[in-house]
Amino acid sequence: MPRALVEGTTRVVGILGNPVDHSLSPRMHNAAYAALDLDYVYVPFRAMPATIRGAVRAMNTLGIVGFNVTVPYKQDVVKLVNRLTPTAAAIGAVNTIYREGSDVVGDNTDAAGFSEALRSHGVKLRGAHVLVIGAGGSARAVLHALREGGAGDVVLANRTVLTARRLAREFAATAVGLDALEHEALLASRTLVVNSTPIGLEGGAYLDYRAAATPKGCMHFDLAYGRGLTPFLALAQRAGRPILDGRHMLVHQGAVAFRRFTGRKAPVDVMLEAVGLAPAARKR
Ligand code: NAP
Repeated sequence: MPRALVEGTTRVVGILGNPVDHSLSPRMHNAAYAALDLDYVYVPFRAMPATIRGAVRAMNTLGIVGFNVTVPYKQDVVKLVNRLTPTAAAIGAVNTIYREGSDVVGDNTDAAGFSEALRSHGVKLRGAHVLVIGAGGSARAVLHALREGGAGDVVLANRTVLTARRLAREFAATAVGLDALEHEALLASRTLVVNSTPIGLEGGAYLDYRAAATPKGCMHFDLAYGRGLTPFLALAQRAGRPILDGRHMLVHQGAVAFRRFTGRKAPVDVMLEAVGLAPAARKR
């Protein structure tokens, strides 16, 4: 008899955030559990600011294996765990929590997910000349990954230049305003452009960004994803530049989290397929 989705022995993992109803994580993790026949289930939990502390405590109370943490709680959760991994401490944000004994450990797998998404598409971080647009929580993980990966020079463009300056100081980048997106000399020297803003996702246009001024092979990576092309990637594609959307980062950060939750190596191809991407093996 095939095992039911949830049995008395089933272990629970979830995602905490608000909103969570559009998250692809449940689909991706549940597909991975099914592929490896693991007795786990992954559930979305919409958490309110007043309940986030209780939700983290519930891990021990209810024996929940772990949570992914998403917008807007990645920074709040830093203060709610017993211990941070060195990566989460360096980034200052948590996107994965799990139990070790009675301790709740906060980790950040976004930086690893970012690096692996690029590596698996042949993009090297070492010596890369990067423009990062946006200076919020996810930009912190990107800047950490770029530093760890040995990126050459990193320019950080943000609407609020003061925020960019603060972050740039921490991660040895150069802070600029969004007018830099029309600066052709700067764009001509980039090998990688990363969008870490949600601009245009709710409708409306992206910024005045001259994608055609970047070199032909300059990779454009949008951390966001939607039904079709994001406005940022639509601009890049129109200019004939290579593109990657946020599902690639989602899968690779999820693969690292999967290992923390289950102790098993993640079936990455299954996870790619679950979010509508071609498995890596067939791409080569
Ligand atoms: P966040 O902390 O809220 O930061 C948002 C950034 O976007 C800030 O720098 C903000 O600038 C800028 N911004 C927002 N609206 C803007 C506008 N209308 N014009 C100009 N700048 C604007 O958000 P986050 O957590 O970094 O997330 C950013 C995006 O990455 C989201 O779309 C999120 O879904 C995505 N993401 C994807 C993954 C993945 O696994 N694929 C992981 C993490 C995040 P100010 O500083 O001026 O406010």
